Amino acid sequence: SDYRLRDVDFTETTCGFCAVGCRFQLVSKDDEVLGAVPTDDPADAPVNDFSTCVKGKFGYEFANSDDRLTAPLVRGDDGELHEATWDEALSRVVEGFESIRERSGPDALAAFASSKCTNEEDYLMQKFARAVLGTKNIDNCARLCHSSTVAALKQTLGFGAMSNRINEDIAETDAYLITGSNTTESHPVLSTRIKRNVDDGADLVVFDPRKVEIAEHASQYVRTTPGYDVAWINGLIRYIVANDLHDEAFIAERTRNFEAVREKVEPFTPEEVERLAGVAPEELERAAETIATADSVVFGWAMGMTQHSHGTQNVLALADLALVTGNVGKPGTGVSPFRGHNNVQGGGGDMGTLPNNLPGYRDVTDPEVLDEFEEAWGVRPPDEVGLKVPEVFTEALAGNVEGLYVMGENPALSEPDVSHAEEALEALEFLVVQDIFETETTAYADVVLPAATFSEKAGTFTNTERRVQLVGQATAPPGGARQDWRIIQDLARRMGHGWSYDGPGEVMDEIATVAPIYGGISHERLREEGGLQWPCRDADDPGTPYLYDERFNFDDGKARFVPADTGEPGEVPSEEYPLTLTTGRVLYHWHTGTLTRRVEGLMDHVGEAFVEVNPATAERLGVEDGGRVRVESPRGGIEVRAEVSDRPGDGVVFIPMHFADGAVNRLTGERFDPTSGIPEYKVSSVRVTPVGDD
Ligand code: SF4
Repeated sequence: SDYRLRDVDFTETTCGFCAVGCRFQLVSKDDEVLGAVPTDDPADAPVNDFSTCVKGKFGYEFANSDDRLTAPLVRGDDGELHEATWDEALSRVVEGFESIRERSGPDALAAFASSKCTNEEDYLMQKFARAVLGTKNIDNCARLCHSSTVAALKQTLGFGAMSNRINEDIAETDAYLITGSNTTESHPVLSTRIKRNVDDGADLVVFDPRKVEIAEHASQYVRTTPGYDVAWINGLIRYIVANDLHDEAFIAERTRNFEAVREKVEPFTPEEVERLAGVAPEELERAAETIATADSVVFGWAMGMTQHSHGTQNVLALADLALVTGNVGKPGTGVSPFRGHNNVQGGGGDMGTLPNNLPGYRDVTDPEVLDEFEEAWGVRPPDEVGLKVPEVFTEALAGNVEGLYVMGENPALSEPDVSHAEEALEALEFLVVQDIFETETTAYADVVLPAATFSEKAGTFTNTERRVQLVGQATAPPGGARQDWRIIQDLARRMGHGWSYDGPGEVMDEIATVAPIYGGISHERLREEGGLQWPCRDADDPGTPYLYDERFNFDDGKARFVPADTGEPGEVPSEEYPLTLTTGRVLYHWHTGTLTRRVEGLMDHVGEAFVEVNPATAERLGVEDGGRVRVESPRGGIEVRAEVSDRPGDGVVFIPMHFADGAVNRLTGERFDPTSGIPEYKVSSVRVTPVGDD
């Protein structure tokens, strides 16, 4: 391309947006990223070959934004944030955390790691929380996305992760059941693979309250009532078992506890499924026949399954369905939670940025595990389970959490019922936010530390299929901004811990010693061999492309059926709030929009929040396409533009999550899944009223 003529640099890296894990080269000159082009050798991009989506292609632009934080900010006596030197800012952080710890103990402190950062940075963040601050309270935003998936898959299959591969299994299967995933807009390159396979004859069954784009390609689309997923999944299992379509040999040889599920699903007759989930008996039957008779099935899901007050139950039911039909641990099959952030699998899970797990999903209450970490770190980690993200906010309001260190997250916009989250942030005595831009959250910070983005750092990300891949540094962070691992190391040193990592490679070497599933992973190997899929236990282990081919991850090697319970969603429509609100994404944006709202090319496509309203609902309410409406829940109200569309069903409305103006989380509520603590973003009761254009 013409770049070749212009004396530019090419750096191979892994996309910093979603967890599909596309690889490409960043083109840069004079510390500015100019573009993204395919890798020279497609073997270096095992997931995507040459393709990327619009976010991979143009999304790097935010890195060049004039809004980037380039110097630390410290809140002065006048109540305003002022630029400060690193020395002043870091001293203030140390002083803030130490004085709270002295007065109220280490558990009055908490830290949030980031699924956007590298594995090495997140590893250091949890080590900093546990070994330097001495707190048990470490968590990250994966709490808000797939924590219920992790909880359910650990109980049933053994690992809280996707069991299969993108290209060899997902792209090659005979049939799909996709539910609660707007695959096309959230995981674009993955959805292209699926659609290509469907064009070649694979069956695609989509269950979703909203007719998302991938449903347009489905052989069968079934609209469901939000909040009743266990009902239709148990109904499918019941039909399959009753008609002898289950995989008896697989169940007998490879699983335990089938009888409990057989009993549990008994009440889920087609009539009951229709009453609860709005699925007609013939639709249920057709889907069950497709799933039970296909040679191989992939079960794909995302937030539409997980973000419920019974999110763990939803995923348990899906895992049971996969086991009943023998669709795990064989090529072309598998359970595929589509993970969101680029590094949510690694930095948000594998690295132990969790209140109950040390790196490698090791139990924080197991004394033998703690002995090992004490030996590696020279400090014994706290032996109690810490607070989850939503609990940190509740405890902050109660005055029990006083200091918080947030790396690369924006809870002031991402938490449910943000007005409540804002009060909690306000109540904190000391808040440190490390980020690349000012965000809705930095507005509450006492100290803001300017950090680096994916194009400005080296390390690794782990994609949704457990593939650990290298991230390459194309440019330097702007101005005085620094890489996150350096900031954390500096703080640890100032707090009396002699950390002296010379770079992320050395951090990965330490990860390999404490997290057995990463035991054989090193930067040298990744450079020589390309990405490695965990478990990869030693230097000779080629990694594990798909899980469970011989054993499930339990002592006896057998999977566990766990019966799933249904229940009402935490909030049901009432006379005052008669509609059900559900939330989600659009292709052109990313999460709270901190990055993508700064990219002109993306804002040109979708520049503001909107609410999708079904034509029948719109007609009843007098809502016009393009007109402004007020959407209110018991917690608050926002004004947005209406888009009349048959994507949502009658009585259901949809608002994307990316915008601060028209923030949908003013409407969502603080109801949580009891097992995982995930908020019920996908179901809230609202009313919609047209407002004048003036
Ligand atoms: Fe990046 Fe995901 Fe798009 Fe691939 S599909 S380019 S990983 S955002």
